Amino acid sequence: MNQAAAQSRIEELKQSLEEWNYQYYVLDNPSVSDQEYDRAMQELIALEQEFPALITLDSPTQRVSGTVSEKFSKYFHTSPMLSLGNAFNYEDLVHFDEQIKELTGLSAIDYTCELKIDGLSISLVYQNHLLVMGATRGDGIAGEDVTTNIKKIKSIPLKVAQPNLIVRGEVYLSLEEFNKINAERAAKDEPLFANPRNAAAGTLRQLDSTIVQKRNLDAFLYYYVNAIEDGIPTQYEALKHLEGLKFKTNKEYQLCHNVDEVWNYIQKYQDLRHQLGYEIDGIVIKVNDFKLYNRIGYTAKNPKWAVAYKFPAEIVTTKLVDIFPSVGRTGKITYNAVLEPVRIAGTIVRAATLHNGDFIIKRDIRIGDYVELKKAGDIIPEVIQPLLDRRPEETVKWTMAKKCPDCANWLEKTDDEVDQYCVNSLCPKKITRGLEHFCSRNAMNIEGVSEKIINRLFDLGYLKSFSDLYLLENYRNEIIELDNFGEKSFQNMIDSINRSKEKSLERLLFALGIRHVGQKTAQLLAKKFQTINAIQNATVEMLSVINDVGPIVATSVVDYFNVPNNVEEISKLINHNVNVKYLKSDSFVVQKLENQRFVITGTLSKPREYFKELIENYGGHVSDSISSKTTYLLAGTDGGSKLLKAAKLNVKIISEIDFINLIEGGE
Ligand code: NAD
Repeated sequence: MNQAAAQSRIEELKQSLEEWNYQYYVLDNPSVSDQEYDRAMQELIALEQEFPALITLDSPTQRVSGTVSEKFSKYFHTSPMLSLGNAFNYEDLVHFDEQIKELTGLSAIDYTCELKIDGLSISLVYQNHLLVMGATRGDGIAGEDVTTNIKKIKSIPLKVAQPNLIVRGEVYLSLEEFNKINAERAAKDEPLFANPRNAAAGTLRQLDSTIVQKRNLDAFLYYYVNAIEDGIPTQYEALKHLEGLKFKTNKEYQLCHNVDEVWNYIQKYQDLRHQLGYEIDGIVIKVNDFKLYNRIGYTAKNPKWAVAYKFPAEIVTTKLVDIFPSVGRTGKITYNAVLEPVRIAGTIVRAATLHNGDFIIKRDIRIGDYVELKKAGDIIPEVIQPLLDRRPEETVKWTMAKKCPDCANWLEKTDDEVDQYCVNSLCPKKITRGLEHFCSRNAMNIEGVSEKIINRLFDLGYLKSFSDLYLLENYRNEIIELDNFGEKSFQNMIDSINRSKEKSLERLLFALGIRHVGQKTAQLLAKKFQTINAIQNATVEMLSVINDVGPIVATSVVDYFNVPNNVEEISKLINHNVNVKYLKSDSFVVQKLENQRFVITGTLSKPREYFKELIENYGGHVSDSISSKTTYLLAGTDGGSKLLKAAKLNVKIISEIDFINLIEGGE
């Protein structure tokens, strides 16, 4: 590459990296994977090494990424908080070790290996034994003063035995907390956090510290800033000293005497990482002897005495056989990939999400391409990008669906949204999925109306709208005659439908499936306006008065009540004596799996204990054997005899993706 071409590529990379830094550090909402970011950074480093004249001071290779938000006051660190250089393979580690030996003149070096916790770094300052400052890394020179929030982290001592001290470490969220937060956000129709790191950063950088308290952040401490002055000679002993002061350290650290021992440690945790309960994205390798640090030195961005080995994401390649759209209850179109079966993180994957049309077009993904695939949050498979150098000649550019895959109505998309919507209120799929949602536990809680029954009653013409539920009694004779329906189950269903008439307004509001109105918004609206009539007559301005109801939500509510069909449907519900007032006595059930019995079989992407705990956290039960009382068989690969038994007993068999959708309240 000549200098002019290098310059233009460098500019392109710098621009992308700056934009990604902004999304990651300021918005806590990355748009690309860490691997894609790291690849671009490595390309930039390589080009700048080849053409040193093109290095500028503002290059992302020359400074610690991150910013200081004006929401918080600035805290200037007593010594800079640096980033770490990266290693991606064994050769990089050997190179790192050789450099250290060269700089120190020693023939053998001890290293302390630690897990690289995927969170955000913090600095804690203690004076007169008391915690007086907690700050983020920021741009490395100055960080954000988040002391009030730091104090909400239970494992961080507010008082220590030593009078003056600065310690640094990593704030993180356990996977359990992360899944809980995202499940709650899904229930409120709020955007999900991309990963625990961004959720932790988004939480610590909140102005409202009650949110921090609720979210159970935690912290591992690993760096004693003035260790040498305080007579602590090595990193290994510094960690022990911190433990003596009752700081929480990550106990997996290990002293290694050469690169091969380091490599064995890396291999061990590459295998164990999914069993830790929190995310790690690599291993940090630090020269153990502090005396050597000044001799080894620093770059503007990293200490040279440490390196971060980054785990490769488990990414596999397979062929994209087809792309098809599906429509959800709000009319939102999701694109799905049909794949040649491939094994990833312990399971065979045949399908994956492609999100929305913009995602596919931006990456120029085509049917017939070989694509890279990963498991997002290690659970739901996701297509990352096509492999352009393996693209078969006959592929053609993919175009977005123009019509709904179910009702063939024209799809709509506004410029500021990435999603397309089917806006036909008579779309069969929207209706049946909307009915499922209306009856669901957190909405009107109508029992005995499964997806299968809804589809059947819809096809027969008995159930085409919410209000039709309250007329099903008229088809008693016909419905009882259907397979799997007897007098008793019919009566149970009707009783449950009748009970739903007494639910409080917030459930009805949520059940109607108004775009952007999740459980929390429904609750706020019901409490403020008390009746459906008052909400129907409210303007955008009146609705926006409520905290947490922004103009987008308010406009969506007003739009909903401007559609004559919707208004007519609500009148019908009122005529069937469905309650439309706020009753203080009723509230949402947050325990989404209450009274549901699960049996787990086959190999899943995580140990069974993980799923068992998740089910129990949501109020469900897990047992070992299937009976007629079992609600779901959660089946991984190689499920065996339990699958047959479940089929015999008509127990619903669900995959891991179905399960996640179930708890996250997805469509
Ligand atoms: P880094 O994550 O590569 O490593 C440095 C950080 O590791 C430290 O600041 C510290 O917070 C952390 N750490 C965790 N455990 C540690 C331990 N035991 N000892 C010492 N440090 C430990 O560097 P960075 O500058 O914090 O972030 C850059 C990385 O962030 C990129 O390589 C990329 O993976 C990610 N990133 C991603 C995007 C994106 O859009 N996806 C954007 C920006 C950055």
